[in-house]
Amino acid sequence: MKIGVLALQGAFREHIESLRKLSVEAVEVRLPGQLEGLDGLIIPGGESTAIGKLAVKYGLQEAIRRYAEMGKPVYGTCAGMILLSRDLGSEQPLLSMMDVSVERNAFGRQLDSFETDLDIPALGEGAFPGVFIRAPKIESVGEGVEILSKLSDGTPVAARQGNMLVTAFHPELTDDLRFHRYFLAMAEGARRVVGSR
Ligand code: GLN
Repeated sequence: MKIGVLALQGAFREHIESLRKLSVEAVEVRLPGQLEGLDGLIIPGGESTAIGKLAVKYGLQEAIRRYAEMGKPVYGTCAGMILLSRDLGSEQPLLSMMDVSVERNAFGRQLDSFETDLDIPALGEGAFPGVFIRAPKIESVGEGVEILSKLSDGTPVAARQGNMLVTAFHPELTDDLRFHRYFLAMAEGARRVVGSR
């Protein structure tokens, strides 16, 4: 199992650490050719405008779209979720692959960064530590999107659509590896279906 982490900007090292703790081969991705042979791709948190612009510059926007269209799993955290969303209501380069619309920096100044326990049934029992840093909100989701977790006010903060997974929060900044394990299970499933290309 080999997972790539988009390493243009942001918290990519932390994802690589989490994957290595799970004994998975984890590599940094900066160029389209490095997507080859990967069983999954993580798009980290950071600054979505910077990551998006660099992705366009290096030809990764199209390459990642093609990669996901092959059925390969892609997981976006925070800025990564913004990039995967189809609609943001403002101009910045997106991958626009998932049927969710989001709002950037949606928790306002008071709640710029916060931690809260999340109930995530797909991960089993036990609260998941949700670390939110200038996080986006999921505003609406299309029919094929499964919501995996919500805040107590009903705001969705984790979702899956087929081979795509997004979280508004940062599991890679915690010691809880369940979300990474969940993504690896998606990658395992996809490997059986589409193989390692
Ligand atoms: N606020 C950032 C953005 O809009 C996302 C923050 C994060 O990834 N932690 O791109």
